[in-house]
Amino acid sequence: MNLHEYQARELLKAAGVPMLDGGVAATADEVHAIASRIGGTVVVKAQVHAGGRGKAGGVKLAKTPAEAKEVAARILGMTIKGLVVQKVLVVPAADIASESYVGLIMDRESQRPLFMVSSAGGIDIEEVAAKTPEKIHRLAVDPRFGLMPHQSLGLALKLYQDFNQVRAAARMMEQLYSVFMANGASLAEINPLATTSDGKVLALDAKISIDDNELDRRPDLAALRDESAEEPSEVTARKANLTFIKLDGNVGCVVNGAGLAMATMDLVKYYGGDPANFLDIGGSSNPEKVVNALKIITADPSVKVILFNIFGGITRTDDVANGIVTATRQFKVDLPIVIRLTGTNEKEAVKILEGVGMKALNDMDEAVKQAVALAKGAK
Ligand code: GDP
Ligand code: MN
Repeated sequence: MNLHEYQARELLKAAGVPMLDGGVAATADEVHAIASRIGGTVVVKAQVHAGGRGKAGGVKLAKTPAEAKEVAARILGMTIKGLVVQKVLVVPAADIASESYVGLIMDRESQRPLFMVSSAGGIDIEEVAAKTPEKIHRLAVDPRFGLMPHQSLGLALKLYQDFNQVRAAARMMEQLYSVFMANGASLAEINPLATTSDGKVLALDAKISIDDNELDRRPDLAALRDESAEEPSEVTARKANLTFIKLDGNVGCVVNGAGLAMATMDLVKYYGGDPANFLDIGGSSNPEKVVNALKIITADPSVKVILFNIFGGITRTDDVANGIVTATRQFKVDLPIVIRLTGTNEKEAVKILEGVGMKALNDMDEAVKQAVALAKGAK
């Protein structure tokens, strides 16, 4: 789950990370009020779950409250990477002397929290990573000991020469690490970590993602979820207990089990198609789950074909077949459906489907090939 910048700032601020106080607003008038209170030049920043807001025009400086209001009226309601801006953060503008990058992720390879820091921070960090990876310094932290002083100082020395700044940055890395660990984050990032012309080190942007598995035991974090800022189909799927991730292709996939879902997407790609989603209806599926899955998939206008790939173990294939039949009775499914199923209660499932004139395939390759061909034909 992604946090908004203003939410991530709260967590970092509570840990002592230095930053400039501001306010969050949903209307241009509120922005005027906050800018008046702050006085002087402010930055108005779009609050959406997307990076690159600066480049997209979602981060703007304003010299007066009137200008802040004007800028906010433009930013509120604008779309950045498919997400509509509903709130803005208003903070005093810092007089930036340099921009560094400090990030912390849960790294699968080292199986540890991994720091990445670079003195080439700011809006082009992706380009730095791609073109001059040697400018990014990495350090995996042993969680048994935490981030030790020599390690945080070592990282900070990659960023600054001035020892006051080195010490300040090292402290901020320790604070970032504690926030990351205490909140079950999968990512925590400050970019830019800026120095100002008077020598201070400040966090000017904050990004934190919380591991979804953390949320059951942390209602305080779960309460930070902003559903209005998330992909609508993923919100619906979560509520229906389906594991769903929207992708860019046009082959809608309904599969049981995460492993089979991955294998199905691989096979769709292998035969030249593109999956429209990852969807795992789970182990013990009931017909209702299938109905919900079909609702979500058919709501996506880019889907051209629906591919079922069901391996019946605990999942009963007749449950899935009943779900398909129920769904097609409840609402009109205007798309071709390719069904592959095998395993528990397969004979019953085939009978149920044949009863409504639908065919079930047994072979996974065959089903995926058909689905890809149908998707191509539809273009
Ligand atoms: P992002 O593009 O989504 O990462 O948004 P950021 O919050 O990182 O802002 C993008 C860029 O806007 C920064 O890299 C800065 O160059 C600029 N910026 C942000 N805050 C300030 C500020 O207080 N003063 C000045 N001068 N520039 C800022
Ligand atoms: Mn940033």
